[in-house]
Amino acid sequence: MASIQERSVNGNGLYFPRNGEYSSVENFFLERGWNVKHGDNGILVGTSFQSVLNCGDDRFKNGEVPEDHRYGPSIFGGAVGIAALRREPTLEGVRRATLDISALGYRAGMHGDVENDELGCGFNRLLLNGYFNGVVGTPAIDLKTARQVLDEHGGSYVDLSGIHTAVGLNFNFVPGTTILSDGNNFGVDGWFALLIDGVEPDRLLELTAATVEALKPDAKNVTIYT
Ligand SMILES: [Zn+2]
Repeated sequence: MASIQERSVNGNGLYFPRNGEYSSVENFFLERGWNVKHGDNGILVGTSFQSVLNCGDDRFKNGEVPEDHRYGPSIFGGAVGIAALRREPTLEGVRRATLDISALGYRAGMHGDVENDELGCGFNRLLLNGYFNGVVGTPAIDLKTARQVLDEHGGSYVDLSGIHTAVGLNFNFVPGTTILSDGNNFGVDGWFALLIDGVEPDRLLELTAATVEALKPDAKNVTIYT
C-alpha cells in the first residue's frame, strides 16, 4: 500500500507513482480472490465542470439519469461515501463532504432507487446497517436529512431503477476522468476520493471491494485504469 499513500503536495494536490499505484491496487484485489486486469484508457471520458459526484452504482445508464450525473466522478455512496471514507459518517460529515466536493469544482450527489427511495443506494444501506462500522465507525446519518443538506448546497439527488447487472468493477485512477456506465460494471473513480483530505487509500480499497462483494458477489472482476 505504501506507494499509493505517497503524497507530495505541489499545488495540484497529490501525485501518485503510476506503476506503483497499479501494482498496489492489483495486489490488494488479488489477495481478496478477485480477477484483476489493467484497463484500456481509451474508454475514459473527461469529467465536466460542475458535474455531480455520485455513486459507483452500475445503474447510472445512458438515458436513465441526467447527463450531469453521468459525466461526474463516482464513489460508492456519493457524498455520503466521502463522509464515510473520512470516518465521519454523520450529517456534519456529509455537510463537510458536500463543501469539499464543491471546492473541487463538482457538485455533491446522492441517489436512491424507485423501489426503496434513499435506501436504494446499496452502499448507504450497508453503511446504515452497520456493515462498515469496523472501518468507518458507527454511522449517525438520516438519509432524507442528508439529501436536504445536499439540496442546500447545490447538490443533486436521483432515483435509479432496475436491478444490479454488473459483472465487474471499473476502478479508475486517472485524474479528471470517468467511465460512462453501460450497466456491465460498477464504477469508482479512485482519483477523486484521494483528492479529499482525510481519505486514506487503504480505506478506499476496502470499502470499494467490500461494497461489490456485498451487492454482487459474482462481480469480483476489477479493471484498473492508471
Ligand atoms: Zn449507491
